[in-house]
Amino acid sequence: MTLVRKPEWLQKKITPSAHAHVEQLLGELNLNTVCQQARCPNISECFGKHQATFLILGRICTRLCSFCSVSKETPGPTDPVEPMNVARAVARLKLSHVVITSPTRDDLPDGGAVLHAATVAAIRAESPQTKIELLIPDFGGKSEPLATVVASRPDILGHNVETVPRLYHIRSGADYRRSLHLLDEARRLDPGLKTKSGVMLGLGEEEGELFQVMRDLREVGCAYFSLGQYLAPSRQHHPVQRFVEPELFDRYREHALSLGFLHVESGPYVRSSYHAEDYGRGNAPA
Ligand code: SF4
Ligand code: SF4
Repeated sequence: MTLVRKPEWLQKKITPSAHAHVEQLLGELNLNTVCQQARCPNISECFGKHQATFLILGRICTRLCSFCSVSKETPGPTDPVEPMNVARAVARLKLSHVVITSPTRDDLPDGGAVLHAATVAAIRAESPQTKIELLIPDFGGKSEPLATVVASRPDILGHNVETVPRLYHIRSGADYRRSLHLLDEARRLDPGLKTKSGVMLGLGEEEGELFQVMRDLREVGCAYFSLGQYLAPSRQHHPVQRFVEPELFDRYREHALSLGFLHVESGPYVRSSYHAEDYGRGNAPA
């Protein structure tokens, strides 16, 4: 296996003192975040600005994506007070925009959709001004869990396609067409709903394949799109095939915007929840 050396534009420093108070609050309320679980390189910046992506339904996933650091074992029971604790954290951190996500819970009949919806309701009750973004799994293609989360009226509903269809063997249990259908169906259920998706680059995709993914997402009405650099969590994970230059990320942003996305974040450190509060403002040319 050839390891690709990290370039100079990917040397962001983590400053634990910048986010100690956020971590303390998360510990008090027994909450998990993707920021910590995925060892996100933006954690000092985001926690320093009181931004976080909450990981509900536990820290263990029933899928085996070879690029992801979330633990893969047998998940435990869900926590019925978790929605209230997330709402308390959102209120105490005074978040204007919050992203809620979960591992895939194929072991639960509803995939955890009811707790996703309960979390939206709890945040709305405590912090009515906060914009809520749900980043959901594919629920195994089941329509009822999707209807449940759409009915909870999040401001943004996200579902990441993650990569191009040719590389879906690294997304164990996922299906590219199923993911597109989910985004399509969400807007059929609520035509006013803004949907969002994202990909990681550097997994081995070709440019033409990436552009096709953008077109596919626009065809199902996806409004927001993110592109970021894949960073392997460890040597046991799928190896990075390429570090994409910042200039190329800029070109991909322009291309995506030309296809009609309302807002696109594209850069080496972009994650789907990075600068999440900016999407509602849009960065497409007038
Ligand atoms: Fe958390 Fe997202 Fe920020 Fe990463 S980019 S630290 S996952 S909010
Ligand atoms: Fe990670 Fe999501 Fe794949 Fe689970 S389904 S392993 S949380 S990327």
